[in-house]
Amino acid sequence: MEFRDLKRQYQVLKPQIDAAVLDTMASAGFIGGTRVQALEERLARYVGVKHCVTCGNGTDALQLMLMAWGVGPGDAVFVPDFTFFASGEVVPYVGAVPVFYDVCRETFNASAESLEQAIQAVLAEGKLKPKAVIAVDLYGLPADYPAIGAVAEKYGLKVLEDAAQGFGGCVGLNRAGSFGDGACTSFFPAKPLGCYGDGGAVFTDDDETAALVRSLCVHGKGGDKYDNVRIGMNSRLDALQAAVLDVKLTAFERDELMAVNRAAGWYGEALAGLPLALPVAPEGFYSSWAQYTVRAADRQTRDALQAALKARGIPTMVYYPKPMHSQTAFRGARQYVPCPNAEHLCGTVLSLPMHPYLDQETVQTVAEGVRAHFA
Ligand SMILES: *Cc1c(COP(=O)(O)O)cnc(C)c1O
Repeated sequence: MEFRDLKRQYQVLKPQIDAAVLDTMASAGFIGGTRVQALEERLARYVGVKHCVTCGNGTDALQLMLMAWGVGPGDAVFVPDFTFFASGEVVPYVGAVPVFYDVCRETFNASAESLEQAIQAVLAEGKLKPKAVIAVDLYGLPADYPAIGAVAEKYGLKVLEDAAQGFGGCVGLNRAGSFGDGACTSFFPAKPLGCYGDGGAVFTDDDETAALVRSLCVHGKGGDKYDNVRIGMNSRLDALQAAVLDVKLTAFERDELMAVNRAAGWYGEALAGLPLALPVAPEGFYSSWAQYTVRAADRQTRDALQAALKARGIPTMVYYPKPMHSQTAFRGARQYVPCPNAEHLCGTVLSLPMHPYLDQETVQTVAEGVRAHFA
């Protein structure tokens, strides 16, 4: 059994992907060009924002957005304590300080209350200037942007949506990538919309931010590539990845997003009544199910369940075993607010196999394994 079956996806999409890749190679236009531009326009339309600028990966996308906003030394950037390392890694990279805040247990996403406490703790200390808040669409579920946005507005902070896992999710009629003052996504192969290597993008409605990101991702270019007006980086999506993504976006819109939601429904039925908390999408929220993550009562139960499933050949993952504030790379950083939910989740979450090509039989097999363990 595959945790995320990318081979199966390729078999289904092979004729179109092969044709698009071969065509790109024959054109010998590998960097930039019409394929990348057309993809950016398509992505912006899908997400519902004015600008999409593609780049080398999701981590660069986050960094580029912080650079474009002028976040730097002396600034505090608020980051959920329960997320992939990159969400916080980019903050010291631009010279600012990451301040970790807690998440909600049920949604795994940013807690607006904890965010406000963290902002107040930073203000009370008087050393750092609260500048921006990052919220993450963890496992495919958009964060509570209305609540986060209200706190951010009260203290004059920009909101950056980390939609690396969220692409395809919605709140009401608004799609992931359209929340906050700007958003970033990743096209890492295992993300909801993945390419065949690394790739990423930023989304924004703001013309000036988009223009700055376009400059920053090509060595701070001015009028052209050899007129460099600021210090930037080299972070581009290549045309081969754009060719793959164009085919995959069609499949994503047509089948895949529906398929993962159907699979999540099967899991919900098959796992009902067991001593596990199943993932929930609040009213009006729609997930793209980057992961299907259950919660066990405690660490011992989670670890035993994972081992029992492994013995049956069922792959599972723990996303994420350590809260951000416990990462060795952040040792010595001040913890402004307690993050008990993040700590609890690191010890209790377990992600089950999930992808658009998962069939009902496989979901039943996973559920039987879980049931047998608790029997
Ligand atoms: C994957 C991921 C990133 C980083 O994306 P890369 O393309 O791997 O650099 C950032 N944030 C979150 C939440 C992610 O899951």
